[in-house]
Amino acid sequence: MTRTPLIAGNWKMNLNMGEAIDLVQAIKADIDVSKKDVDVLVAPPFTYISEVARTVDKSGILIAGQNMHWDHSGAYTGEISAYMLQDTGCTHVILGHSERRNLFGETDEIIDRKVKAALERGLVPIVCVGETLEQREKGKTFDVIKDQLNMSLDNLKKNKSMPPSTVLAYEPVWAIGTGKTASPEQAQEVHAFIRTWLNKNFGPNIASSVRILYGGSVKPTNAAELMSQQDIDGALIGGASLKADSFIKIIHYND
Ligand code: PEP
Repeated sequence: MTRTPLIAGNWKMNLNMGEAIDLVQAIKADIDVSKKDVDVLVAPPFTYISEVARTVDKSGILIAGQNMHWDHSGAYTGEISAYMLQDTGCTHVILGHSERRNLFGETDEIIDRKVKAALERGLVPIVCVGETLEQREKGKTFDVIKDQLNMSLDNLKKNKSMPPSTVLAYEPVWAIGTGKTASPEQAQEVHAFIRTWLNKNFGPNIASSVRILYGGSVKPTNAAELMSQQDIDGALIGGASLKADSFIKIIHYND
């Protein structure tokens, strides 16, 4: 099965409204998604989503929230629900990003509840996993990834069912925003491990349909080599997604 590559930009807490619109306009002007064999997604801060969605219009550029709450409504000051994301134009949501895990105390259990809530509302989750440098140096990478997958996708595992549109992202914590990229071989090794885990838990069809993105200092200069690996189906990009020039170059990694 061929998996359409997905190039996703996580803007984090950056840009002002004008810059956000300029950026998405530049992306829209450059690509005609319907002609390219790659899907493009942006994850703006919550307050820009509606305006980005209006600008994106029918270009095919996908929009994701960067996070959401596990409940659908209620007394959760400062939080946002899957429905609210969808209502403003999102089709996807990033869940379990290492910054959420490490800076905001998100556990695998919380992520599991969020994945369930996203799917209940028809949002596609982009679930992030990744090891720290210390864990890698102690030879624990595969154990950490396996535990994160088992626990943050526990609900899906119990039901033995995962929508084929689900996206996973391998983001080694030591490579995020550090300028250090996993080598294509290091990344491929973990991606292959994740695909084997998918096969074991959900069967060969899901294993061959689910896209596994690599994230961690992806740039125009390393995108093609990373993307050439068999089990790398796209990129989740932080810093290099904030400038039209670099993000567009990554979209065109194959040209
Ligand atoms: C990220 O935050 O998901 C990320 C990969 O960031 P960067 O590309 O800046 O390393």
